[in-house]
Amino acid sequence: MGRYWNEEIECMPREQMVKLQSERLVAQVKHVWDNVPYYRKLMEEKGVTPEDIKGIEDLHKLPFLTKADLRDAYPYGLLAKPLADCVRIQSTSGTTGKRVVAFYTQKDLDIWEDCCARAIVAAGGTNEDVCQVCYGYGLFTGGPGLNGGSHKVGCLTLPMSSGNTERQIQFMMDLGSTILCCTPSYAAYIGESLHKMGYGPDDIKLKAGIFGAEPWTEEMRHEIERLLGIKAYDIYGLTETSGPGVSFECEEQTGMHINEDHFIAEIIDPDTGEVLPEGSKGELVFTSITKEAFPLLRYRTRDICILTREKCSCGRTLVKMTKPMGRSDDMLIIKGVNVFPSQIESVLLKMSNASPNYQIVVDRVNNTDTFEIQVELTDEMFSDTIKSVEAVEKKIGEDIHSMLGIRAKIRLVEPNSIPRSEGKAQRVIDRRKLV
Ligand code: ADP
Ligand code: ZN
Repeated sequence: MGRYWNEEIECMPREQMVKLQSERLVAQVKHVWDNVPYYRKLMEEKGVTPEDIKGIEDLHKLPFLTKADLRDAYPYGLLAKPLADCVRIQSTSGTTGKRVVAFYTQKDLDIWEDCCARAIVAAGGTNEDVCQVCYGYGLFTGGPGLNGGSHKVGCLTLPMSSGNTERQIQFMMDLGSTILCCTPSYAAYIGESLHKMGYGPDDIKLKAGIFGAEPWTEEMRHEIERLLGIKAYDIYGLTETSGPGVSFECEEQTGMHINEDHFIAEIIDPDTGEVLPEGSKGELVFTSITKEAFPLLRYRTRDICILTREKCSCGRTLVKMTKPMGRSDDMLIIKGVNVFPSQIESVLLKMSNASPNYQIVVDRVNNTDTFEIQVELTDEMFSDTIKSVEAVEKKIGEDIHSMLGIRAKIRLVEPNSIPRSEGKAQRVIDRRKLV
């Protein structure tokens, strides 16, 4: 098996890709206009008809869709195919409120799994690999998506789902898993548990991990790579656009290639909706140009990132997105300052003696925000003198202050006292009743 799952597409010259995207967009707009009254109404309100869309240069004329639209139209309002043609439903994990459901035809599933296969091959996967999938299975897209991709590649697939970490490690050792797929927070937990059980990277055969579904920092990547002795690859996606596999990392590890034959990406100013030039930081917007059952046009992801077309050493020509730097709705405003949990994580992970397990607790007392960061002590530090613990506390406090410009109360807590997550980690507890 080569370096690519689909070389023709993944390395397609730009002009050819634009042509392909344009053809698909024109057809998709017509499909949506004919079959989704909800979106047709939005188009009519904006005074756009399918005839106005002749290629990707006209994309900006189309109205946006937001998560609020998905909730409004719940459950069937954005469906573009008869239910009889649909074979699967998946749902968001509900990180930010009411769940959203998405529908798939058999073709939609094939394409989704194909996107995941590209990610697995980019991480070095072949049919010789044993791929342990410990994303949750069920309504969450992580398990089913990577499971399907792993089958396509021909890996021996272990559909573990999440949880029961000791058993995960046992299977990993007994069956010689070479690729691990899960959330980065669970990967860190598996690594931590492996060491607690008295093992290390030399006792397992893992070579690569495909981690996504939640924000994680470069520092977290290094930590996971060290704990498990692997190369850790990022993968991105959201239920609304099918699931993981919308974009994936290659060996260069400098951002994720977007599967542009299926998704057109734009970056907009989240406040004005204006399309921003390449290289700008803003909100990521996707138009799915091949989905049959649930084809969202100009869907606002609320994820903040940057797109780049700089040449990649892997040979792929697909545009790259940076790791999302938080979601526009994930951002906390504390004492008037914008704070992303990922900023705090990167401060903690830069310190050799702090653990990556933390929780941010925000409250409001006497009309003033309180901002506390609970950080778990590592085992070694726990047995250290009070003086050295105080020094760590002080150092974290100073680093947070210099990064954010506001002070946080740092509270070091006992090892293993912050709840571990087998899926997406809960990093923020906001007790302010602001709504
Ligand atoms: P939700 O969490 O909104 O209920 P999903 O389970 O579909 O719904 O999650 C999709 C979201 O997860 C994305 O919009 C993004 O914020 C986050 N996400 C997915 N993959 C990554 C990744 N690799 N890095 C950072 N965030 C990610
Ligand atoms: Zn690349």
